[in-house]
Amino acid sequence: MTTEPITRHEAPGGIRIYRMPLRVFPAMMANVYVVIAGDYAALIDTGSGLGDSTTDLRAAFADLRTDWHEPLTWTDLRRVIITHAHIDHYGGLTAVRSLTDAPIAVHELDRRVLTHHEERLTLARHAVSVFLRRSGAPPQKHVALMQLYGWSKDLFHSVDVATTLRDGDTIDDLFRVYHVPGHCPGQICLHVGDILLSADHVLPQTSIFLPPESITLATGLDHYLKALRAIDALPGIRLALGGHGEPMIDLHRSIGRIVEAQQQRLDQVRELCSEPHTTYQLAASLYPGATGYDELLALQKAGAYVEYLDMRGELTIANLDEMQADELAPPRYWRG
Ligand SMILES: [Zn+2]
Ligand SMILES: [Zn+2]
Repeated sequence: MTTEPITRHEAPGGIRIYRMPLRVFPAMMANVYVVIAGDYAALIDTGSGLGDSTTDLRAAFADLRTDWHEPLTWTDLRRVIITHAHIDHYGGLTAVRSLTDAPIAVHELDRRVLTHHEERLTLARHAVSVFLRRSGAPPQKHVALMQLYGWSKDLFHSVDVATTLRDGDTIDDLFRVYHVPGHCPGQICLHVGDILLSADHVLPQTSIFLPPESITLATGLDHYLKALRAIDALPGIRLALGGHGEPMIDLHRSIGRIVEAQQQRLDQVRELCSEPHTTYQLAASLYPGATGYDELLALQKAGAYVEYLDMRGELTIANLDEMQADELAPPRYWRG
């Protein structure tokens, strides 16, 4: 995977936004943004801090100097905002902290991932392990997936957070904060001028990763669809810039495509559940060929769809007797 060029976007009032794609994982790019308004400059997200990510970030930052009234340096930054506590967006904070003292802002529901990282990682590992057992993953698969779960996250060290964000806040008289849970508990979008920094809430791709609430509260499809509707109702957004991929010139169309894709997945689960399925079996049918870390993500996505339908009484447990006799037996869901 090679580097991609920086793109420049303008909002009314002389606001400039630079989109800097970084290689955050071996096969994955993520966008980091620098927002400049007068003498003010903010960094939005930091990349993963893994592999080429921080090298790309520093190189992209150096390239910005051509477009600044005087060279932009890391110490010119007045703010670092983390859009949500996923490693591809905050993992670079350790390196960024050595370059700038700019105060860090993050939503209250993701704050502890940054400030008490080891504690949150341990709790999340436990929750994922319980989820995998309930999903019906075979024991060997369980062990292999748990090893994958932790591989990159141990490298991060907790940082201090200066500013805790909530829905409706304004940061630095420039960004309006929207809390949009679903993909991540503390996921935010940032509204600046007529541009929405949509982070991982709205992306050009339609397969948004959603874990179930049984792993992390304030995630899942129910929260996600509600938050999508709220963003879809915002007037006057000319351009949306996501946490991955290209700029989106029609936010409402992007949202429409995502909602449609989610509904198709729900319909697939309904159809599959004409026969009893564990979540593990559903994931294998919904995402055939998913291996490695992708398989772990596929299982969590399947878990989110099952949870959504089960909460609404669309699914029942086919093996209740077995579960009553054995508390470790995974539930088999169906529509019988
Ligand atoms: Zn994310
Ligand atoms: Zn992401």
